[in-house]
Amino acid sequence: MFWNRKSKLLAKVIAEKCDNCRCCTRICKHHALICAEMQGKIITFVNRPENCTGCGKCVNICPNRAIELMERYC
Ligand code: SF4
Ligand code: SF4
Repeated sequence: MFWNRKSKLLAKVIAEKCDNCRCCTRICKHHALICAEMQGKIITFVNRPENCTGCGKCVNICPNRAIELMERYC
């Protein structure tokens, strides 16, 4: 997997806080986030971590504070 090596940060959605409003998926220009149905449930998650630049736009726009930036480990 090739990810953006300029960034040491990666967005992570905290599922318990997320109400799937899609604000984050709309603002992410790198298409790193998706809101999709999985096993009969709608969830929002970072489906393309390699695309995430760690810009923080999704963190700032989330009304529920359901996204954190975490350090990449490899
Ligand atoms: S903006 Fe926040 S609450 Fe809305 S879908 Fe994204 S993570 Fe979930
Ligand atoms: S930190 Fe930036 S690039 Fe990464 S998911 Fe959020 S908006 Fe997209």
